Amino acid sequence: MKGELSGGCLCGAVRYRLREGFRMNPYACHCTDCQSRTGSAFSEHMLFLQSDMEITGELDAGEYDQPSGAHSRIYGCAQCKARIYAVNDAREGMASLRCGTLDNGAELAPAAHVWVKSKQPWIGLPADAVTMDEQPRTNKDWMKLEGIV
Ligand SMILES: [Zn+2]
Ligand SMILES: [Zn+2]
Repeated sequence: MKGELSGGCLCGAVRYRLREGFRMNPYACHCTDCQSRTGSAFSEHMLFLQSDMEITGELDAGEYDQPSGAHSRIYGCAQCKARIYAVNDAREGMASLRCGTLDNGAELAPAAHVWVKSKQPWIGLPADAVTMDEQPRTNKDWMKLEGIV
């Protein structure tokens, strides 16, 4: 998604602006970790440069050691606990937006669906959706999956 984006949490205490900059396309992750973390069927992520984000309001963080060994920290509103973005120590400088917090989230369609092998069976994907049973293991493979290179 190009251009400046804005969004915030459920209660309005946290607001952010994401300047135009390097970012990947949004994707949907159907892994069981995302299902547990979001309390939902899947999550929508978009990688961006953390330095492009201006965020106001009180945040708190949840911590998790991923099976890959990366330490992940997810930031959300300290009041309403809506989750806004996550970072992990395997990709320094980058953060992953939770796309449902965007003001214009409805304009966004995932460029790819990953971990479809653990997708909940009642979710049907478009016939032309880009899908992967698991997820790319390198940045280059991510970019290939999202059609960037
Ligand atoms: Zn809030
Ligand atoms: Zn996931």
